[in-house]
Amino acid sequence: NVLSALLTFFFFFFFFFLVDRFLYAMRLHDDQLRDISARFQAEMKKGLSAESNAAATLKMLPTHVCSTPDGSENGEFLAVDLGGSKFKVLQVKVRKEAGRVRRSVEMQEQTYPLPKELLIGRGVELFDHVSECLKDFLLQKKISLEKKHPLGFTFSFPCQQTALNQGLLLNWSKNYWARGLQGKDMVNTLRQAISRAGGMDVDVLALVNDTVGTMMTCGFDDQHCEVGLIIGTGTNACYMEELRHIDLVEGDEGRMCVNTEWGAFGDDGALDDYLTEFDRDIDAASINPGKQCLEKMVSGLYLGELVRLVVLKMTKLGLLFDGRVTDALRTKGKITTAHVAAMEQYKDGLKNTRDILLDLSLNPSPDDCIAVQHVCTVVSFRSSNLVAAGLAAILTRIRQNRKLKTLRITVGVDGTVYKTHPQYAKRLHKVVRRLVPDCHVRFVLSESGSSKGAAMVTAVAQRVTARRHQ
Ligand code: BGC
Ligand code: MG
Repeated sequence: NVLSALLTFFFFFFFFFLVDRFLYAMRLHDDQLRDISARFQAEMKKGLSAESNAAATLKMLPTHVCSTPDGSENGEFLAVDLGGSKFKVLQVKVRKEAGRVRRSVEMQEQTYPLPKELLIGRGVELFDHVSECLKDFLLQKKISLEKKHPLGFTFSFPCQQTALNQGLLLNWSKNYWARGLQGKDMVNTLRQAISRAGGMDVDVLALVNDTVGTMMTCGFDDQHCEVGLIIGTGTNACYMEELRHIDLVEGDEGRMCVNTEWGAFGDDGALDDYLTEFDRDIDAASINPGKQCLEKMVSGLYLGELVRLVVLKMTKLGLLFDGRVTDALRTKGKITTAHVAAMEQYKDGLKNTRDILLDLSLNPSPDDCIAVQHVCTVVSFRSSNLVAAGLAAILTRIRQNRKLKTLRITVGVDGTVYKTHPQYAKRLHKVVRRLVPDCHVRFVLSESGSSKGAAMVTAVAQRVTARRHQ
């Protein structure tokens, strides 16, 4: 009995050791994370300054959202959410209940399919599809076609904004590459598509990045929410910056939300010493080689593929499955981020791993399953570690901006990886708190935050416009 326990122990040890040695470069300890965080902080500064912005990888885009919700938001709004894992149309009702402090947000939403060809086809067709779905939504939900509807557009790509209702698409990211839209104003593009579809009276009032929407939704209930974070198909964060530090926008008083576009961190080589051969392979096989370096190490579009590449390499080296590689294992996309989440499930993780490997026509031994599960852990842990490093940089910056010894702050989070991976959130919270002990951070899952927030921003915009017309 003792012997078999010892043997089991030895086996576990042996395999962890093998896998660990192999994945050494993916395991980042706190000193390395602090180093990355420092580079991050320097890059934020670079992006904010007018002289160095062009050369900066963190674009630090002004969003023209200058306050978190103040409670006077009111009314009914349409929202379109494009660029996340799902394409959605929504109606959001924001209400302040009479005589009560509590406000309520009601919403109905509809997810529409978005054929892959549209993502990489002609931009016009992508937007025609969007407005056809919007029209379908109005009909389905019996929303009046006669009335004029204010709309907020969640568009989860980097846009250069000179106003809330204007934004030039700088470049595509994730798996989008629609032709003819780079450099164009996305509000106008949507307006034109809506008028081509005809029969609707819709006023596109705000263009909102999903991080900003997430922050605003969470800010509706929590005054301290001044950071928005997305860990989904892509990754990104926004936060409230002092206007006096934002060179690209006039004015010195108050704050404005800045969209960091942190997915591009490392595009200038800043992360080269942390890249592995797997990261380079992912990049080379992507539709945007050389772009979105951090995003490719972190986000849901790539985690499964990273695991596949590691497992494939280990198999080729004879470390797994007796060295037998299958066609499925050789095929791009066969391991998804959803698989990774399933393999790391607390109770059924190993069983899930076995099922998933069997589906790839592999013949896994119990030790193979343990090793593959461990690969998943290393890959997803690196992701949350890198996000923690970025977040630590932002939190430190906010704390220093405000000359505070300790900062109390809330981070609104959305995104499939954060929401569905069984251990991701917990790990992230823990590492962030370790990296910035002087910040008391609360994390709030902002359910549907990216889309609801567009309505929130639109509500603010409408209030401001109404005031101007008085
Ligand atoms: C985009 C960001 C977006 C993030 C999360 C990135 O690829 O560039 O604008 O916020 O994905 O959706
Ligand atoms: Mg989203």
